[in-house]
Parts: sequence; structure tokens; C-alpha cells
Amino acid sequence: MDCKSQTTMSAKKATEKAKEKEKVRCVFCNSLSHKMDNCNSNFNGRREALDKGWCFLMDGGRPNFEILAANELRFIAYHYAAYEGAIHDWNQKNTQHYNRKFRFRPVDLSLSKAQLIKELARRWEGFQSVRDLYQTKPVPTEDDDCPICLECTTTSYTWMHTVSSWVKVEDKVTTECKHSFCKTCWASHTEKNRRYDYQARGNHHSAPNLCVNCPMCRHKIAVK
Ligand SMILES: [Zn+2]
Ligand SMILES: [Zn+2]
Ligand SMILES: [Zn+2]
Repeated sequence: MDCKSQTTMSAKKATEKAKEKEKVRCVFCNSLSHKMDNCNSNFNGRREALDKGWCFLMDGGRPNFEILAANELRFIAYHYAAYEGAIHDWNQKNTQHYNRKFRFRPVDLSLSKAQLIKELARRWEGFQSVRDLYQTKPVPTEDDDCPICLECTTTSYTWMHTVSSWVKVEDKVTTECKHSFCKTCWASHTEKNRRYDYQARGNHHSAPNLCVNCPMCRHKIAVK
């Protein structure tokens, strides 16, 4: 092996070593002790604010990304991508207002500060339809009276970040025999009346399931 190729070899090795090192450095705080997914840096006391950084999508006005340092922008972009992943794991029907075009294009953490700002601003703009949806909370509806306590059952809505949508919260339980009760009454009914269903037990080695009868029609209903 001649001298030149040896130098090239060692130079190559050095680059590889440097690359190895680069791999385990935390992208946010440059520490070698951990990777970015468990970064413990407190960002000079700004950690708490940055942890909520991905919520910038819900800000009414375009967030002032310019005041943030490049590593802070990266931190936000990284957690925003995790949030995006969570959105897509959910029922697609619920996420219809979400702009899907960014799904396969997470913000590249190696971008310059100016490019990071541009990319985050594009994400924020793409979120307008979700922000519009957030402004229009569905009105709660009063449903039928609970036949036990005679109070109205209601259907209200709560905003869920994971689906970027309003999600129904019902305070009633509808049985398979199509009778509805408020959750409180149904819970106390099952608490007081549940029993083991020996008849339904096909296999005598397995534990019998619990059941109750519907207070309206006596239909037998399996409960946990
Ligand atoms: Zn770190
Ligand atoms: Zn009730
Ligand atoms: Zn019934």
C-alpha cells in the first residue's frame, strides 16, 4: 500500500468516526450523552415553552419564529412531526380537515435557520382549515330523558389535538336493546345488579361473564 492511499484510508476512517460521533450527538443541545428523542436540556429555562411549541399551529396569528434560535426551531419541528404522526394514526374520518400534504414531508432538521422558519410558517398556513374548525364548536344537544332519573342526557363536544377535531362526548349509554340511560344511572344500575351469567358459559373451564338486565325491557346485557 503506498503512502497516498494510506492517507486516504485514514482520512476516510476519520470521517467515518466523525460521522459516528455526529450520529449520537443531540441535535438540539449538541450533547453526546443522549439523543434528540430524550433530550434533557432545559434550553436556558425555555424548555417548558418549547415543549408546547408544536401548538403554534393553533395560534391565531403567524407565530414569530424569527425570535427563536435555530436549535429551538428544530426542537419544535421535531415534536411537531411527532404530533403529525399521531394525527395520522387516528381514524382518517376525524382528520378530514387536516392538510395531508405535509405528512410525508416532515421539516428537515438539517435546514438553516431561515429555511426552518419558512417551513414552519408553511405548516402554520396549511393548518388554517383546522383553526377555522376550532372556532366553530358544535352546540351541545339535549337528547331524551334518562328513564331512571328523568334528567336530560346531553351530547357535548371536546377539542382533541390528536385528531385536530371536535369529538363527541356523550353522557349517555345506549344498550343493544336500544334503550338509553345517563352514564351515572347506568353505572349504578350495573354496580347493583350485575351477576354472573352461567347460562352463556359454553366452556366450563373459563370464568363466566358478568351481565345485567336492561331496566326497561329486561334484555340480558353482558358487562365487564
Ligand atoms: Zn439534548
Ligand atoms: Zn339517569
Ligand atoms: Zn332494553
